[in-house]
Amino acid sequence: MSMRELVVLGTASQAPTRARNHNGYLLRWDDEVILFDPGEGSQRQMLHTGVTATDLTRICVTHFHGDHCLGLPGMIQRLSLDRVPHPVAVHFPAGGADYFARLRHASSFYETAELAVEPIDADGQRITLGVGTLEARRLRHPVETYGYRLVEPDGCRMLPERLSAYGIVGPAVGRLLREGHLDVDGRRVTSDEVSVTRPGQRFAFVMDTGLCDGVYALAEHADLLVIESTFLASEAALAAEVGHLTAGQAARVATESGVRTLVLTHFSQRYADPRRFHDEAREHFAGDLVIAEDLQTVPVPPRRVPSPG
Ligand SMILES: [Zn+2]
Repeated sequence: MSMRELVVLGTASQAPTRARNHNGYLLRWDDEVILFDPGEGSQRQMLHTGVTATDLTRICVTHFHGDHCLGLPGMIQRLSLDRVPHPVAVHFPAGGADYFARLRHASSFYETAELAVEPIDADGQRITLGVGTLEARRLRHPVETYGYRLVEPDGCRMLPERLSAYGIVGPAVGRLLREGHLDVDGRRVTSDEVSVTRPGQRFAFVMDTGLCDGVYALAEHADLLVIESTFLASEAALAAEVGHLTAGQAARVATESGVRTLVLTHFSQRYADPRRFHDEAREHFAGDLVIAEDLQTVPVPPRRVPSPG
C-alpha cells in the first residue's frame, strides 16, 4: 500500500520555544517526499522521523521570511554530503530568487547534488508530477508568498464481478479501459457500467497569509489541509495587519471548503496553552482537527467513498 502522510518537523512561528522547533513539514505521498518551508533545525528534526535527505524529491518554500527558509542552507548542503543521486526539485517565489541564491551558497561546501530549480512566477502555476498536479496560489503577506496544493486526478476502479457478469476478461478489459466501451455479443458495454470512480486525493499547504482568494482555492476539498494559525481571535486585528490567520479563521476556511482533516500550526510563542487553538477552531470546524506538535505524523485520511458509476 502506498504511504501518504504528513510528518511535522516544527510548529513555531517566528521564534522557536522549548517545545516547538521552527517550521518544517514533510509530505510523503507515494514516491514523492516533499519538504515544505524548512526553518532552522529542520535537518536535526528530520533525524527523529526516519526520513533521510536521500528520500527527498522536492522542496517547496512559501516565502523568504527566516522561519520558513533558514533551514535551506543546511538541507541543501546535506543533499551533497549524502551524495543524493537524483535531482531534487526546488520551488519558491520567483521574486525571492536573490534570497534563494544566497541561501543556496550560504557557505562553502562540495556540491555534488543536483537541484532542479523551478521558481514560481505566476498565480496558479502548475507543475505536473507523477502522482498528480502541484499547484501554487498567491497568498496575502508582506512579502511574495505562494501556498501549494497537490491534486491527484480522479481515477477509475474496475469491478471484477460486473466484468465477469458481462464475460469480459483478459485483454478485453484493457480495451474497454482505453476506449471507454466494448461490444460484447452484439451489446455495447460502457466503462461506467463496470467501474466506479476512485476519487483523487488532495493535500494543501497554506502558510503565512491573511484571508484571501488563494487560501480558499488551495483548501477546496482538501483531504488534508495544513494551515497557519499564528493567532487567536483576541489578536484578530494584529493578525489582519501583519498578514496572518487566527485559529477561528483557519477553521472557517476548512468548513467552507469541505476539508476533511485540518492541521493547525505555526503558533505564536505568546500562547502557552495549545488547547486554546483547539477550542477556538472547534467552534467552527467539526471534522478531524489536529493541533500540530513537533514530530507528529498525520495520515492522509482514506479516500472518500467512491460513487457507483
Ligand atoms: Zn512570514
